[in-house]
Amino acid sequence: MKELTLEDVKHLDEKDELRPFRDEFYIQDRMTYMDGNSLGLLSKRAEQSTLDILESWKTFGIDGWQSGEHPWFYLSEELGKQMAPLVGAKESEVIVTGSTTVNLHQILNTFYQPTESRYKIVADALNFPTDTYAIKSHLYTRGFSEETHLKIIESTDGNFISEEDIIASFSEDVSIAILPSVWYRSGQILNMERITKAAHDKGVFVAFDLSHSIGSIPHELHNWQADAAFWCTYKHLNGGPGSVGAMFVHEKHFGKRPGLAGWFGSNKDAQFNLDQTMTVADGVGAYQIGTPHVLNLAPLIGSLSIFSEAGITDIRKKSLQLTSCMIELVEQELKAFDFTIATPLDEHVRGGHVYIEHKEAARICKALKAKGVIPDFRAPSGIRLAPVALYNSFEDVWNTIQILKEIMEEKAYEAYENERGVIA
Ligand SMILES: *Cc1c(COP(=O)(O)O)cnc(C)c1O
Repeated sequence: MKELTLEDVKHLDEKDELRPFRDEFYIQDRMTYMDGNSLGLLSKRAEQSTLDILESWKTFGIDGWQSGEHPWFYLSEELGKQMAPLVGAKESEVIVTGSTTVNLHQILNTFYQPTESRYKIVADALNFPTDTYAIKSHLYTRGFSEETHLKIIESTDGNFISEEDIIASFSEDVSIAILPSVWYRSGQILNMERITKAAHDKGVFVAFDLSHSIGSIPHELHNWQADAAFWCTYKHLNGGPGSVGAMFVHEKHFGKRPGLAGWFGSNKDAQFNLDQTMTVADGVGAYQIGTPHVLNLAPLIGSLSIFSEAGITDIRKKSLQLTSCMIELVEQELKAFDFTIATPLDEHVRGGHVYIEHKEAARICKALKAKGVIPDFRAPSGIRLAPVALYNSFEDVWNTIQILKEIMEEKAYEAYENERGVIA
C-alpha cells in the first residue's frame, strides 16, 4: 500500500467540512491536544453561555430562576431536549442532572428490584471503575453481598469483552445489567441494540454508561428500546470540568417512583406548593434530586449548539477518518518500536479514540507532554489518543505520530521515570 504523506494529510484537512468548528475552540499554540475524551476543550460558545448565565445572576438575583433567556428553573429540561438527538431519544426522555456516578446510583435505586429468584447485577471487568464501585456500594447498603449478587463478565485478553459472553451471562437469575457503550481503554463499541434485545429476551433490564460515546458516535436509544442510560458531559461534549451529567429513561418506564427522590423531581407546577407529599414529575425529570448546578450547566448551552449545527453523523464520519488515519500512521511510522494497537481495527466496533500499548507507556506519555502533545496514560501500559472531530485536524494526527516517532528514535522517554503522576 502507498504510504501516507504529510501532503495527503493536509489534503484531508482541506476537504474537511467540519474544519470551521476548529476556530471556535481555544487551542493553545504549540499544543496538540489528544485528550478530548477525558476533558474536552473550551469553545467560545460555551464561554459565552457561561458569561450569559453569570450575567443573569448579576441582573436578576433570585428572579433568574424565572427570567432571562435561559431561566434556570427549566434549564435541565431544556438541555435534555437539546441533547436528545445525540442519543436518539425523545425530548422528554433526557434530563441533564447529577453526575455519571450519581445517575447510576439513581438508576440502581429506582430500577434494580431484586426478587428471590431474580436478583443479580451484571457488569464487566473492563468498565471505568466508578461504575463498579457504585454497584458494590449499592449492594452493600441494601444488605446484599457482591459474591452472591454481582456477576462480572471477564475479558479474555485484558482489552476486549465478547458480546457472546455478555449475552451468555443473562441467566434467569439476572435482574439488571450495567454496561458501557464504548470501553474507555480499548475504544471497543458495544452493539447496544443487540445487547438490549438479548437482555429483554431474558427479562433483564439494561442500562448503558455512554460517557465515552456521547458526542462521538450516534445512538438510537429510544428505538433500540434501551431501558436507561447515563453519561458525563465534560468529555466529548466539552461542558468543562465537573459539568452536569445526564440521564435517559425510556418513556415505557415513566411513572416509576424515583429511588432517590428530591424536590427537583417534582412536577414543576406543583414544586413550589412545598407540600410534604411530593407530586412527582411525569417524565424523566422525576429522577432529578436537588437544586441544579446552574453554573455547571451553563457551558452546555453553547457547547450543545455546536453539536446541533455540526450533526452527529458528520462528527462520526470525520472521527472515523481521524482514527483510521492515526492507526495507519502508527503502523507505518512506528513499526520498529514494539507498539501494540489495542483499538478495534474494524470501524463498526471502534469508538472515538485510539489505544496503543507499550511497556514504557508512562514515560512515553511524559515525553509527549514535554513536546506539547497531550495524551492520556492508562496504567500499566496504555497510551490513549483521541483526535476529536470538532477541533482536531488530520495534521494534528500527523504531528502526534511524528513526535512519538522522534521520542522513540531518540529514546527521549529515558529522561523520565516509568510511573504515572497523580492524575493520568
Ligand atoms: C468518565 C467516566 C465516568 C465518570 O463519572 P463521574 O461521576 O463523572 O466522575 C464514569 N463512567 C465512565 C464509563 C466514564 O468514562
